[in-house]
Amino acid sequence: MENNDEVENKVVLVGETSVGKTCIITQLIYGKFKEFIESSLTAQYCQKNFEFPGDKSIKLDIWDTAGQERFRSLNRIFYSNAKAAILVYDITNQKSFDEIKNYWYGQIKENCSKNIIIAIAANKSDLYEDREVSNEIGEEFANSINAIFSSISAKSDSGIKDLFENIAKRMLNNNLNLKANKTIIIKNKKKKNSKCC
Ligand code: GDP
Ligand code: MG
Repeated sequence: MENNDEVENKVVLVGETSVGKTCIITQLIYGKFKEFIESSLTAQYCQKNFEFPGDKSIKLDIWDTAGQERFRSLNRIFYSNAKAAILVYDITNQKSFDEIKNYWYGQIKENCSKNIIIAIAANKSDLYEDREVSNEIGEEFANSINAIFSSISAKSDSGIKDLFENIAKRMLNNNLNLKANKTIIIKNKKKKNSKCC
């Protein structure tokens, strides 16, 4: 099976406090929704393997915050070498969406590589009756920054697996392209160095 386990495939989740970042990860990894999770009690890092047809697989290294987002104090280590970022907002909280646009996206641009994969996740879709942010508005922003848009619910387990699979697929393609480019560079170097008779 072809995989990329020797490289770190880091995915970070950011967004305002209480938008559901920890619940999204808990649902993805354990298939459970927990109403109250104390941020100090949860793992800030976990892994999940994704398999695709053609014997391809990729293991994602998923990073959650430890609640520092409340104080706007995520450090460089949190962002360093991230290959994907999921910007989460709560559809019942307009401010959480505004902060994605005004703060979190800027943090990603400032601290991460230019070709990072970005996804905008509109969480708590089960609370559609209290919606403050339409999917059209969310999607419009995602399109404007070339990001994936996903309407999800950690509570009803809707859209979460698809979101991470989508990211995994893109990351796998990027890694394979990188590998192919490296091979071409090495081959070209060898060609240059080899003596011709
Ligand atoms: P974080 O601060 O972004 O990590 O947010 P948490 O994962 O701790 O969730 C904050 C609150 O939102 C908790 O009370 C969760 O039960 C609730 N929550 C998270 N996701 C959902 C969801 O999809 N639907 C609903 N109704 N509540 C959610
Ligand atoms: Mg949390």
